[in-house]
Amino acid sequence: MKKNRPETLCVHEGQIKDPLYNGAVSPLYMATAYSYMKGDMYPRYFNTPNQVGLSKKISALENSEESLIFGSGMAAISTSLLAFLSSGDHVIFQSDLYGGTRNFATEHLNAYGIEFSFADSTSLNDFETKIKDNTKVIYLESPSNPLMKIIDLKGIAELSKDNSIITMIDNTFASPVNQNPILLGIDIVIHSATKYLGGHSDILAGSVSSSKKNIESVFRVGKSLGGNLSDYTVWLLERSLKTLYVRVEKQNKNANEIANFLQNHECINKVFYPGLKNSAFYDLAKNQMKDFTGMLSFEIDNNISRQIFEKNLNLIQPAISLAGVESTINVPYLTSHKWLPKEEKVKQGISENLIRFSVGIENVGDLKLDISQALKKSQNES
Ligand SMILES: *Cc1c(COP(=O)(O)O)cnc(C)c1O
Repeated sequence: MKKNRPETLCVHEGQIKDPLYNGAVSPLYMATAYSYMKGDMYPRYFNTPNQVGLSKKISALENSEESLIFGSGMAAISTSLLAFLSSGDHVIFQSDLYGGTRNFATEHLNAYGIEFSFADSTSLNDFETKIKDNTKVIYLESPSNPLMKIIDLKGIAELSKDNSIITMIDNTFASPVNQNPILLGIDIVIHSATKYLGGHSDILAGSVSSSKKNIESVFRVGKSLGGNLSDYTVWLLERSLKTLYVRVEKQNKNANEIANFLQNHECINKVFYPGLKNSAFYDLAKNQMKDFTGMLSFEIDNNISRQIFEKNLNLIQPAISLAGVESTINVPYLTSHKWLPKEEKVKQGISENLIRFSVGIENVGDLKLDISQALKKSQNES
């Protein structure tokens, strides 16, 4: 039978039949105690009916053999790293990295005897020169936060296969709708499901997808660390995923239109969005992604007050986190990247005037109007 397409998989894959009442949605099984005569079902073993059902949906969307669902993106990330790294091993992270992942590396890996390096996110050559005899894992994030850099996933996959290295990617910013790294040769795909998969800014969760063999390794560490998601939230996340495709499709479309609008606005210096034809990453993104995502960043002109702009937005909310149905903005300089030394922020291009925009599913004309009026006010008052 032909595999259903992503829109259909979002709605139907992994759904649990309701044998008692034939309800149209999965029943929720909240038990933490099941008969030992029927195997060893237990939420911390990732094997309850709702966990297994949702894993099937995520695996189908990511084209993986199996998946595990975690209580947060960081639980998924830390468990996956510890599953493939032990004392004496070395891991290469790309330099543009989610803050929590960078902290996990810099604050905890030494205690496990694990060495790490950072490689320039946009240079395959830099990754190659950083590979050592004990390098076991290469860890990526594409598109990256907040400058939306794209890394050549096929290139990294080839480099790693030649050196028997496991490749992992944090696919949060793309979502499975826009990018399936496993099809490009990457081994392990991780999501902060708190973002696009959840999509309504009300669920904290994570996922890991890979081959049966790799997931077995993640499972062995995961059941000891105990980072599973509770079944109630698993059930809510299944409901969220039913609309993943329609949400992300709309967010892609809105973001593309807003990126072009901002690029032509006199108050904006620079727009970071791989879907812009003049972006350095356009060709690569076009090649390895299905669409360009609903995330973008832009830098407002120096003689305009960012604070006045933020204050005057009516529709678009200043908020940390991202990828909800509502549009939100965030200033990485003050939030996600505040711990980076100032020189490093400047070097990476993260200025005080850089705004990250998580584009929602609202009417794009309303969003543009909100930006225009707030920019106009900040121009007048600056
Ligand atoms: C939010 C986020 C994480 C961490 O996920 P949590 O669910 O907050 O633990 C990891 N990577 C990226 C890219 C994120 O945006």
